[in-house]
Amino acid sequence: MKIAVYPGTFDPITFGHIDIVKRALKIFDKLVILLAKNSLKKTIFTTDERINHIRLVLDDLIKNGLVEVDSFEGLTVNYCKEKKINYIIRGLRPLVDFEYEFEMAMANREMAPEIETVFILTDQKYFYLRSTLIKDLALNGADISDKVPLIIEKEIYKRINN
Ligand code: ADP
Repeated sequence: MKIAVYPGTFDPITFGHIDIVKRALKIFDKLVILLAKNSLKKTIFTTDERINHIRLVLDDLIKNGLVEVDSFEGLTVNYCKEKKINYIIRGLRPLVDFEYEFEMAMANREMAPEIETVFILTDQKYFYLRSTLIKDLALNGADISDKVPLIIEKEIYKRINN
């Protein structure tokens, strides 16, 4: 069985992330979505909330055993080594992601040469979609219904209005 880890912040999960999950499942039998617990990134949702969002949105894939959600304190490569998983999935949007993703993949390769990073290109529809933009748009009352699932949209507005 070919398993890959898809690490990220997912604050919150967007249609862009979901698109990458579905594309990755064309290559891999199973995907572990991994939230880093010790990220320096400031998030509007806690780790447990973000995990819960992913569980709600990907309910079917999780029930079918195609997707698992986990969190980890430390480096993704250490999680992979512990679980004996040799593939890391990252989504690539044009322009913005390349340099950062390239550096991270190289750093990971240095630490764990047995692990391969697999980049998946985003759908054209989502190429400018990022969680920060969605939060900004929501904060200013713009429509975000084409960017996140409805339950997530509701959660964002609840958090913003508090
Ligand atoms: P991180 O903080 O690790 O960048 P993110 O949650 O922002 O976490 O993203 C996780 C992964 O999903 C990254 O590989 C990122 O490039 C990818 N990603 C995020 N948004 C999109 C999108 N709209 N299309 C494709 N990939 C995306």
